[in-house]
Amino acid sequence: MAEQRATNITWHEGSVTREEREKLLGQKGVTVWMTGLSAAGKSTIACILEQMLLHQKKAAYRLDGDNVRFGLNADPKTLTEKRSYPPEAGKRFGLGFSAEDRMENIRRIGEVAKLFTDAGVIAITSFISPYRRDRDAVRATMKPGEFVEVYVHVSLEGAEKRDPKGLYKKARAGEIKGFTGIDDPYEAPEKPELVVETEKVSAEGAAKQILAYLEQKGYLKA
Ligand code: ADP
Repeated sequence: MAEQRATNITWHEGSVTREEREKLLGQKGVTVWMTGLSAAGKSTIACILEQMLLHQKKAAYRLDGDNVRFGLNADPKTLTEKRSYPPEAGKRFGLGFSAEDRMENIRRIGEVAKLFTDAGVIAITSFISPYRRDRDAVRATMKPGEFVEVYVHVSLEGAEKRDPKGLYKKARAGEIKGFTGIDDPYEAPEKPELVVETEKVSAEGAAKQILAYLEQKGYLKA
């Protein structure tokens, strides 16, 4: 089949401005991008932060690694068995954990986070996002100040001790291949906007640190 690709599409500005949206919401659109090892606490902190923001009547929405992999970034098997995709399409659009698939996983999430940000919402993402290049590529799609990278830090030793899903144990036993931190790299951010040290502060403390940053930088007002 001849490939039909959209080559003549243009971005429509629309008649509602970003400023109008932000004024309505009383906040600025931003992506809070959490990165760190599995079990660092990204999801836990993201949940608390989202709640804290909603209690302040701020529109926030969490994009979470595991949940996104059920839908937008599902694997080929899920796409064919649960979404009725033909096998070829499932293979082409489904994602696994190879470096290339991780890149596409992050690209799609980045694009979704960008849309939320454009809508004036505080998008909170919690993905390992191990490759610096992939995170920087998302940053590059946004305007300065729209991408707040938060390094959720834990030592590998600390992460293995927590191991809430037993994944490190499986990776050490060779039952999971290409596990970040064990036999796949994690590239720490060089200049994150914020670092939260989860072996020094509680999950709630870490969420409060992020909230304080957003407040101080003026994101919580229009
Ligand atoms: P990730 O999303 O980074 O894989 P999770 O939030 O799923 O991590 O899991 C982190 C685990 O570590 C949870 O069981 C959480 O209760 C625990 N934990 C212990 N101390 C902290 C802390 N200071 N911050 C965040 N999580 C912590």
